[in-house]
Amino acid sequence: MRTDYDAAVLGAGVAGSSLAAMLAARGWVTALMDRQRFPKHKVCGEFLSPESQHILSAMGLRETVQSLEPHRISRIALYLAGGGQVELPLPGTALGVSRYRLDAALHRHAVAEGAFLLQGGTVTAVVPYEHGYILHVRQGRESTEITARAVVAAWGAGGQGRILGRHDHRVDDGSWRKRRSGSAHERGAIGVKSHFAWSAGASSPSDAVELYFFPGGYLGINGIECGHYNMAALLDSEDIPRSHSTVEGMLMEAVSRNPALHSRMVDAQPVHGTESAVAPVHISKHPVPWSVIPHIGDAIGRIPPLCGDGMSMGLRSAQLCAADAHRYLAGEWTYEQWRIAYTQAIYSQFSGPLRWGKVVEGMLRHPAASRLLPGLARLSPRLACKFVEATRLRPG
Ligand SMILES: Cc1cc2nc3c(=O)[nH]c(=O)nc-3n(C[C@H](O)[C@H](O)[C@H](O)COP(=O)(O)OP(=O)(O)OC[C@H]3O[C@@H](n4cnc5c(N)ncnc54)[C@H](O)[C@@H]3O)c2cc1C
Repeated sequence: MRTDYDAAVLGAGVAGSSLAAMLAARGWVTALMDRQRFPKHKVCGEFLSPESQHILSAMGLRETVQSLEPHRISRIALYLAGGGQVELPLPGTALGVSRYRLDAALHRHAVAEGAFLLQGGTVTAVVPYEHGYILHVRQGRESTEITARAVVAAWGAGGQGRILGRHDHRVDDGSWRKRRSGSAHERGAIGVKSHFAWSAGASSPSDAVELYFFPGGYLGINGIECGHYNMAALLDSEDIPRSHSTVEGMLMEAVSRNPALHSRMVDAQPVHGTESAVAPVHISKHPVPWSVIPHIGDAIGRIPPLCGDGMSMGLRSAQLCAADAHRYLAGEWTYEQWRIAYTQAIYSQFSGPLRWGKVVEGMLRHPAASRLLPGLARLSPRLACKFVEATRLRPG
């Protein structure tokens, strides 16, 4: 295995894979590293916003995504906890496609551009040295070291910052079962997802992403490939009865809490093997674009899942980072110039969506506010659309 690289991208999710592809396409010897093995199912609403498609097109990936046979989505339907309903058009067509297919397609693209995909190895430490960084990688009982001139954190929202500068730190293994036994604060929220199918004729394919709110969380449903639907929920972990220890059990508990959702799920069957869960899920107030090394995607900050914009933020940050990393690797910029330019770009583009995402999530989950919202949206559809727009990235 090669052990020296120009760039190492730590995490092969949407953000990391796209960055690795862009760096490799510019001629840099790039490692794309992940502790997981792919393809795999991942907690996500699997809703590719209209914004993310502009970025995928700019990366030359439009046809690749279309070849995954995504489901087309043009509306958003909100079913509030008080029983009210709000429908809004999306600012463009969104796509529903599973992360199982999407991530694998992004990996193939990165490899085709020349990146080295290293799966199944956990990066346990990132140690600076005179020519860049030494990465400590653990695979089973084996430990290896690789070096890279530039390293980018694309490791998601798991709070992996402890890896930086700590030679011996053992990283979180992401076990959601273990997390459920921690303190209330540590537990945060739990994200769960599963694919579902309806028996033929029971549910016509919908062009809406449906969001259902209930005490203790919310749940989204949208069509994906193969006529299946993805169902993803964010649940306050203190609110879930301990008896519900499976993903299906937690989803069914959520279903029982919103009557509209309960009726919707009549005749729905889970697609076994597609379930996954993640915890704790903490939502970010401010972006953190740089801490020792540049961060991209959820490593910068997590927007409330109901905004359906996490993947586009991952793609946008990868785009910004690729251009700046190239200047650094080519010797046009110092490390400090890269840090300043990238940090400023992320603050200016991400601060608004993160702040407004939290505001909108708070309103939709608040019992009193959610009772007023259907009337307000009918009175002023433009105002409702403005709120949605405030959570979106501006065109790049
Ligand atoms: C319930 C829920 C629903 C959501 N719905 C949507 C939606 O509909 N649309 C949308 O756009 N976004 C949605 N999101 C957000 C979206 O899933 C994330 O924004 C997106 O996955 C972030 O991508 P990423 O590449 O930054 O990180 P990730 O996809 O999390 O990838 C990080 C990768 O890093 C790897 N890694 C971590 N640590 C290490 C290590 N030490 N060594 C090696 N590898 C490591 C992990 O294994 C992982 O594969 C949702 C999120 C949740 C929780």
